[in-house]
Amino acid sequence: MNIPQYRYIMMRVLAILPPFLPVDTIRETVRHILPDIEVRTDTEFKSIQAEILILTTFTGIEGSLMDRINGLRLIQVASTGYDNVDLKAAKKRGITVCNIPTANKESVAEHVIAMVLSFLKEIRFMDSEMRAGRWPMLSGSTELKGKIFGIIGMGAIGRRLAERLVPFEVEILYYDPRKLSEEEEMSLGISYVPLEKLFEESDIISIHVPLTESTRKIVSRDTLARMKDRAIIINTSRGEVIDEKALIEASRKRGIRAGLDVFSREPPDFGSDMFSMDNFLFSPHIAGVTMESQQRFITETVSNVLRVVQGLEPQFVVEE
Ligand code: NAD
Repeated sequence: MNIPQYRYIMMRVLAILPPFLPVDTIRETVRHILPDIEVRTDTEFKSIQAEILILTTFTGIEGSLMDRINGLRLIQVASTGYDNVDLKAAKKRGITVCNIPTANKESVAEHVIAMVLSFLKEIRFMDSEMRAGRWPMLSGSTELKGKIFGIIGMGAIGRRLAERLVPFEVEILYYDPRKLSEEEEMSLGISYVPLEKLFEESDIISIHVPLTESTRKIVSRDTLARMKDRAIIINTSRGEVIDEKALIEASRKRGIRAGLDVFSREPPDFGSDMFSMDNFLFSPHIAGVTMESQQRFITETVSNVLRVVQGLEPQFVVEE
């Protein structure tokens, strides 16, 4: 029998997880596969030996923390976003950074559609009317069919959203500095437009960009001013891509509707005016969190770490 010969390398794995996760269950599940794993919920250690660090997006890691993990060679972020990692500091120290790029694209795409339909069909209004004992005979509910849907950022999630929108018969515009080939555009049924045009023409806009200097406040007073009155904007990317003050103003003056899963501060300031405005719909940074995606994250994170322990190159290396 031909048994593959793996070269197991002695490596200690440290996982730092947020305390709200079922840490004991994760510890027990993963220990069978990675016996040399230490699972913690804090960073309050002076120094620790670990070649591999597993993190979620909820733990920030800068150079000073990297320096307290002796021998660190790989940071594996068990999520899509990795803006919690100081990539410059990692590069300077020769530490490879990986994410898990596609495990929750399905969950996020569905969450966007759920928020859009909730607005268009006035689900929250109907529900609250009936809970108050009323039976409204008319509504301002509208259809998704025929709307112009703008997608900012045509990466993994943007593409999955475009695919999921096909049966709704919408017109899809997109903007991304990396324009797709004509064949890709044709197969997804999407049209490239400059960013300004996307803001001007879309009835609904959904944002799927990483947080970088080029995307910070991409939704600003200026871009909001270009939007149609009562247009809908959905943000499941990162809170800092929207100027929240300008959004509240645009919502108040021109009825812009906003579905927000992410906030410039998390948890957000619940005293903010947006929490008392009907034009807003919220979820707590959970668009990508489903039972199915959690399972995919665990499997794909452990697989990538096992590759490295076996002496193979990791997948999903992120660049600065
Ligand atoms: P991705 O890297 O596959 O795609 C991002 C796309 O954005 C790329 O095509 C890139 O070219 C484009 N982009 C970069 N700068 C841009 C700019 N200035 N304007 C327009 N487009 C630009 O990432 P993804 O998997 O699609 O995820 C997008 C983001 O969604 C992640 O970075 C993460 O922050 C966020 N996210 C949130 C949740 C959640 O639960 N809310 C879950 C998963 C991901």
